[in-house]
Amino acid sequence: MAARDEFGARLKAYEGRSAAVARAGRDPVNAPMIRHWCEAMGDTNPAYEGPDAIAPPTMLQAWTMAGLRGHTDRAHAYEELLDLLDEAGYTSVVATDCEQEYLRPLRPGDEITFDSVIESVSEKKTTKLGTGYFVTTRMDVRAGPDLAGTHRFRILKYAPVRQARRSSARQTPSRPRPVVNRDNAGFWEGVRRHTLLIQRCTGCGTPRHPWLPGCNACGSPDWDTVEASGEGAVYSYVVMHHPPFPAFDPPYAVALIELAEGVRMISNVVGVPYDKVRIGMPVRLEFQAYDDELVLPVFRGREEVA
Ligand code: ZN
Repeated sequence: MAARDEFGARLKAYEGRSAAVARAGRDPVNAPMIRHWCEAMGDTNPAYEGPDAIAPPTMLQAWTMAGLRGHTDRAHAYEELLDLLDEAGYTSVVATDCEQEYLRPLRPGDEITFDSVIESVSEKKTTKLGTGYFVTTRMDVRAGPDLAGTHRFRILKYAPVRQARRSSARQTPSRPRPVVNRDNAGFWEGVRRHTLLIQRCTGCGTPRHPWLPGCNACGSPDWDTVEASGEGAVYSYVVMHHPPFPAFDPPYAVALIELAEGVRMISNVVGVPYDKVRIGMPVRLEFQAYDDELVLPVFRGREEVA
């Protein structure tokens, strides 16, 4: 216990230490980057266009980024802290959250500088991922002499819970359950009865999958169902190698199946080795029971494979 407290105290000593000092943004705030950002985000706010444009506040961190090469003048304190955690077995890292505060809008032409400080290191915490420490850095972003905003970024440095996972994996893990809701309950009800029901708009006759409350073609909320004939073909596919999930045994093929009725659904191709699945391969619907509760539609390859 004393040793742990001592380690915690060593970590705490990094609070307030600098992680970056007076760095300059790679480019001044500029209209092309603002335009690209707005296009990528689908943000059409007129405040971000024209001669009086401001930058979207959420771009704050973008102005501080170093590009693919990264910052070459990395401050030692942050690296040291992470090394210390690595050496103590907290070798994994996950970004947990970010908070921003905005004090003044940024406009094209503003030259950015920023400082970053290790704001806090938490007590030792146990999470689903493992036990470790939350490390929060605070970056103050300036435009000239003015503080324009603050960006807080928190990571969890943790020791992964591999042992626990292995022991729970001994009881055969079950496949994840589908999320059944008001909109798709009829589909899963059909699957339980070994029928694959496709939703069909009664306004315009357009079939759709997955199930939705309204028609994307005409907007009608009225629908009925047609039972799929079970004929289809592989429209596209990927082979999953990594990461491994409990209850799945990689490598395996996940395919987008185009049904004869004209809708597509994601499923597994069975009866064909993962590396023999091909686009255009004819497949036929089957229902596979994975355990006492779970039946899923799968598609059996219909081509002879070597
Ligand atoms: Zn319709």
